[in-house]
Amino acid sequence: MTQKLDFPEEVIRRLNYLCKTYDTYTRASVATQNRLQALKGVRKEETKRFEDVAVLERHKDKLKREIIPELEFFPVWTEWLTKVLGIGPVFGGHLIIDYYFRFVPICSSCGKDLIEKKKKLICSSCDKPAKRNGPMKTRIEMRDFATPSRWLSIRGELIVNGKKPKPIEGVKLSYDPKAQSLDSQIGESFKKQKGSLYQEEYERLLVKGEKKYPDKTPKHRRNIARHMLVKLFLCHFWEVARTLDGKSTTRPYPIVIQGHTNYIPPFYWTPPNKEEESKS
Ligand SMILES: [Zn+2]
Repeated sequence: MTQKLDFPEEVIRRLNYLCKTYDTYTRASVATQNRLQALKGVRKEETKRFEDVAVLERHKDKLKREIIPELEFFPVWTEWLTKVLGIGPVFGGHLIIDYYFRFVPICSSCGKDLIEKKKKLICSSCDKPAKRNGPMKTRIEMRDFATPSRWLSIRGELIVNGKKPKPIEGVKLSYDPKAQSLDSQIGESFKKQKGSLYQEEYERLLVKGEKKYPDKTPKHRRNIARHMLVKLFLCHFWEVARTLDGKSTTRPYPIVIQGHTNYIPPFYWTPPNKEEESKS
């Protein structure tokens, strides 16, 4: 089963490789910083001057620079994300990979899809188990989210029973916890961009939250506001990407983002037809 891809396969694979490798270096850097703090009794900021951390951070910068030319293939990056303060190549690359592509593991012997049986990956055709620690072969599928709630749901951003989903031991997750964690980082990044449109929206959401949740702690209210901001941004991402891809968009979607009472069009974005109108 092969599907036509809307972007060059080597670009998709390289972008995925660079983003995942960037994450590997981030994890190594954080772990090394923690060990150095314990060993040397220094503060987190001071660990950067140790060569073991510096070398990892330098390599992260190199990977980030290598991600940029791969992103040039994606209009949602060139036409929009490059203008959004707080979103750099690493966030952009991850969002694009998550939004457009699914990497389906395939059998290294016969090329058929692997399926999960009793927590192990087994070939659906020749029944061979996948090697545990070897290179994993995959085929790529294009994803299509007809509604923004599907896109939010696979990232673990939809409120279920009043809460954001969390992993439960022994239960298969219905969302990607790495995407959920990336979204929190994106929210933190927006908060730091003083004077940017997403940061201003965050401030508005905080003020609303003070009235709406007077009994909650300030920390809890900040988390709620950040979560709502991230959901708004993800809906914007969905709307801009679908518009650029010539796909239909549904409106309004405040039902998806509890708390937003009216439609807020994507920040930093002029839809193509609006541009025409303003020119004439
Ligand atoms: Zn097979």
